[in-house]
Parts: sequence; C-alpha cells; structure tokens
Amino acid sequence: MVKAKIREIIQETPDIKRLILELDKNMPFKAGQFVMLKIDSERFDKLIPTRAYSIANAPNDKFEIQIIAKIIPDSNFSQYLDQLETHEEIEVQGPYGRFTLSDKDKTTEVTLLGAGTGVAPLVGIMEYALQNNIKSHLIYCDKTDEDLINIKQFDELTQNRKITSKILTTRDKDSKRIKCHVTKEFLKENLPTRKGLFYVCGPLEFVNNVVGYLEELGIEKDNIKTERYG
Ligand SMILES: Cc1cc2nc3c(=O)[nH]c(=O)nc-3n(C[C@H](O)[C@H](O)[C@H](O)COP(=O)(O)OP(=O)(O)OC[C@H]3O[C@@H](n4cnc5c(N)ncnc54)[C@H](O)[C@@H]3O)c2cc1C
Repeated sequence: MVKAKIREIIQETPDIKRLILELDKNMPFKAGQFVMLKIDSERFDKLIPTRAYSIANAPNDKFEIQIIAKIIPDSNFSQYLDQLETHEEIEVQGPYGRFTLSDKDKTTEVTLLGAGTGVAPLVGIMEYALQNNIKSHLIYCDKTDEDLINIKQFDELTQNRKITSKILTTRDKDSKRIKCHVTKEFLKENLPTRKGLFYVCGPLEFVNNVVGYLEELGIEKDNIKTERYG
C-alpha cells in the first residue's frame, strides 16, 4: 500500500474528474495497469469500499499517477472521491492487471478501442507508445461531444499526425464527431490496420461486442487484450 497526496483535481467533463496523485514512494507499474483506491474511513466516519481505477498515464520517474474517475451520484465510492480536495491523502494498492503495453510485447503498432471511462488506460498506453516509437490508432466512443475525455490531447496528436483517431458519439445529434456506435460495419470500413496488438476497454457489453467483431474481421485472439469495467 502506498499513500498518495492529491496534487491536482481537474474537472475533465461535467461528470468526470481527473486526479493527479503524488505517491509517497515509488510504485513501478506498466502502461495500462490499474490500482485499487481506498479512502480513509475516518474522513467520512464510515467504511467506504475500495474501487479499481486505471492509471491514465505512462510510467514515469515522478512518483505520479493520474486517475480519470466518473463521479456517480449516490454511489458507494465516487461520490466520496468527489468530495476530496487537493492536498488530501488517499491510499493506493497495486498495481494490478495484464492489460498492459511494455517492451515485452515487441509490437510496432497498437490499436486502442475504448468507450466511456474505458479510455483511461488507453491514454497511458498511448503515451507509452508515443515514447517508444510504437504507432497508435485510437477508436474512442462516448455519449456526447461534451462527455469526451482527454479530447484536446487526442485532437492535437491527430492533427500533428502522431496518432490516427476516430472519435464517435452515440447520443448527440449536434455532434461534430462520427455519429454511430462501434459496430462490425464501422470497424470493417475504419479499422486502420490488422497488424499489431489490439486493446479494448470499457463496459462489459462494449468489450464483448468489439472483441467478437475484431475476431470476425480476422484479428487473432492472442493479439487482443481486454479490460472490462463492469
Ligand atoms: C480494472 C478496472 C478498472 C477501472 N477503471 C476505472 C476508471 O479508470 N475510471 C472509472 O471511472 N471507473 C473505473 N472502473 C470502474 C470503477 O471501479 C467503479 O466500478 C465505478 O467507478 C463505480 O464505483 P462507485 O462506487 O462510484 O459506483 P457504484 O456505487 O458501484 O455504482 C453506482 C451505479 O453506477 C453504475 N456505474 C458504475 N460505473 C460506471 C461507469 N464507469 N459508467 C457508468 N455507470 C457506471 C453502476 O452500474 C451502478 O448502477 C474500473 C473497473 C475495473 C474493474
């Protein structure tokens, strides 16, 4: 267990906060892993369950991890996370998970497919890929334009040709993005490559559907990594 101080809180979208955490000691992790967050029971005078959160940045030597958390009203955990302020402490357990990109993967290309907060670990994987000359392609789907997470960085990297991206929205009739779900037809037309590794993260149904489509399109099971959020 590592203690972390909340260095900065950024309102990322109307219901999503990005927390920048400063760890009190080094916690080596791989891009794409997650941690369990624990709030001290004394803070709200009650026992709050721990929750899993992906690390939304690449490994670094600054003892820093970033968390992208959806704040859900009346929830068991995130409503309390929402009330914490900068300089407060939180406990971090981990890192955990095999949804990772590291030098062991020996790939030159990754395709990252995410929905909602499932984009969080993909941000860390993309940053690692950029640092290591691995080509990244992003397919990211969310509800509306204003729900899009980390979109400024995605747009800038796309404009500068550092990554390719397809950004989709499903519930915004005025959206400036591609208005559809990630369907098999969409992937057939838009999958930028069949090579390298594929990372799929988000709600259970999204991940199961997308993995099925990728396999139907000829991507080998062994080249698909998944993280299911529920
Ligand atoms: C490996 C892993 C990594 C995860 N990483 C992240 C992450 O980076 N960011 C993040 O926000 N969550 C992440 N989650 C989900 C997270 O752990 C919690 O389950 C979620 O945030 C809800 O916790 P809660 O106590 O606030 O809400 P709960 O009290 O558990 O749930 C309240 C209600 O909200 C619904 N709900 C829960 N999560 C979501 C969601 N993301 N979107 C829409 N509705 C939801 C539930 O179905 C329930 O009806 C991850 C889960 C796993 C397993």
